[in-house]
Amino acid sequence: MLVDSHCHLDFPDFAEDLDGIVSRARAAGIGRMVTISTRVRRLNQLLAIAERYDDVYCSVGTHPHNADEEDGIAPDELIALTQHPKVVALGEAGLDYFYDNGSPEAQARGFRAHIAAARATGLPLVIHTREADEDCARILEEEAAKGPFRAVLHCYTGGRELALKAVSLGLYIGFTGILTFKKSEALRALAAELPSDRILVETDSPYLAPGRFRGKRNEPAYVVEVAKVLAETRGVSLEEISRQTSENFFRLFAKVKA
Ligand SMILES: [Zn+2]
Ligand SMILES: [Zn+2]
Repeated sequence: MLVDSHCHLDFPDFAEDLDGIVSRARAAGIGRMVTISTRVRRLNQLLAIAERYDDVYCSVGTHPHNADEEDGIAPDELIALTQHPKVVALGEAGLDYFYDNGSPEAQARGFRAHIAAARATGLPLVIHTREADEDCARILEEEAAKGPFRAVLHCYTGGRELALKAVSLGLYIGFTGILTFKKSEALRALAAELPSDRILVETDSPYLAPGRFRGKRNEPAYVVEVAKVLAETRGVSLEEISRQTSENFFRLFAKVKA
């Protein structure tokens, strides 16, 4: 079994054939999917999807791109929304300095509010970080000093230092189709180096179609392509990578029924 730990099934790209997407994922051996929130105020749309399929779960949070729009969200509000049985994580929240979509201050405020909610609930935080290694490492360290929390740095594209810092704080690292791209040598070297109990696979679909599907709409079934490259990179079989990443997923996303 493989798990797609990060997809966006509520995006309009999937609206026409969601049943087909989910059944293709099942046929490809994808045992669980987590559809990740980008706006707290859209949670109901995600819940409608998570309630429709046994093997689909969701998170709740504000993507850094939407940090200004949902600025000032309180940890208590997030915590209350995690009471639903299908909400298994916080996020995605974090820092994105590549796009100019949210002011850095609002992104940092949102990031810290989500960490506080993760700490209070014990649920994992899905962290989005892009071109923000230094600030991300600093916030993670400062927040970890206030008390432990669980998290994954999803769709990892940052440097070695931030990844190792995150691992030292007990966090996980998630890999997408970017791992399969030709120019991603440094990322593959990092993926080979990380401890086997800290790695996850994901699609971030509809974006980032891996390998031979590049340029097309991505979907959860294609997480197999990410797992294949991760296995090759680490010199283990696809079966072994499937077992490890699924075990890691159920340990981190402990609210998901195994
Ligand atoms: Zn993201
Ligand atoms: Zn995402």
